[in-house]
Amino acid sequence: MHDHEYAARVEAVKQRAYGRWTEILANLGVDERILKRRPLPCPVCSSGVDRFQYTDRFGQGNYHCRKCGPGGGFKLLQAVRGIDFNTALCDVERMLGVLPAVPALIDSTPTPDRMKKLVQHIWDEARPVVPGDDVDRYLKGRGLALQNYPNALRCHPALGYFQREGVGKAKKVAEYPAMLARVRAANGDAVTLHRTYLHEGRKLMAPDAKKVLCAGFSGAAVRLGEPGDELALCEGIETGLAVMLATGKPVWSALSAGNLEKVVVPDAVKQICIYADNDADGDFTGQASAFSLARRLMREGNKDAAARSVRVFLPRNPGADWADVWQQRQAVALRHAA
Ligand SMILES: [Zn+2]
Repeated sequence: MHDHEYAARVEAVKQRAYGRWTEILANLGVDERILKRRPLPCPVCSSGVDRFQYTDRFGQGNYHCRKCGPGGGFKLLQAVRGIDFNTALCDVERMLGVLPAVPALIDSTPTPDRMKKLVQHIWDEARPVVPGDDVDRYLKGRGLALQNYPNALRCHPALGYFQREGVGKAKKVAEYPAMLARVRAANGDAVTLHRTYLHEGRKLMAPDAKKVLCAGFSGAAVRLGEPGDELALCEGIETGLAVMLATGKPVWSALSAGNLEKVVVPDAVKQICIYADNDADGDFTGQASAFSLARRLMREGNKDAAARSVRVFLPRNPGADWADVWQQRQAVALRHAA
């Protein structure tokens, strides 16, 4: 292969890898602690205690070391795995080769009516989560197994995985089991589904493994439990299950920081606990949304006589959510029991 061909090949891989380095590096064996953007000893120059940090700042798998300087995904992969550039290139190519370029669940944006039917159809194909199925295996692996799962979750045995070729129509390239979560609007209507593709008991390693079926769910939530006087709120579904297990409270998952701010809470709920993600290693999005929600819920709740109490809980470690905290606690408990 000529030099310019090789350069073109490298350039093509870089373009396809853009914005996907965290998934790529995780799949190619780079330690999760690095990818959680924590200050660490530098794996590139093998020195220090906290001089290195993975940031993915420009979507190129970026990192920075106070001693050996900045670098990108390829350099990091080579250093961590002890491989040369060409091996790293081939690994990333192989990884990207099996990943759809732009996954989509549907071929175009359907009308709201068609979307409603599609949501119902997919939901009907799925079954309640029971011990031993793919969703149970996945959640068990994260320390989140339950005897009785919320009916807002279902297990789809083989959900189509679509890939869009350029600007053309998306076509189905595979089927995977999936965890489905029903997203309900304030009035109780199911407005969309959130799906998490699974593979061999784990989340599928693909950039779009977790996604909502369609937009337009502002203020809606996955209702993992029915609130009485009390309700817990958080971003992720796994976080919600962890909070449920740890506190026994009914939980709603808003799915994203952006939507957490907007969640509509029934007036009857007087005690609200918000379990925020700690994004102190990034731009504090989790904290900002949680406190913004807290302020709004306080204002709304204090219109009538019975005052509302709103509390915000943050995991201590930057980069952590409550599902991480729960998993660590389970691991410690297991070690103590052993
Ligand atoms: Zn270094």
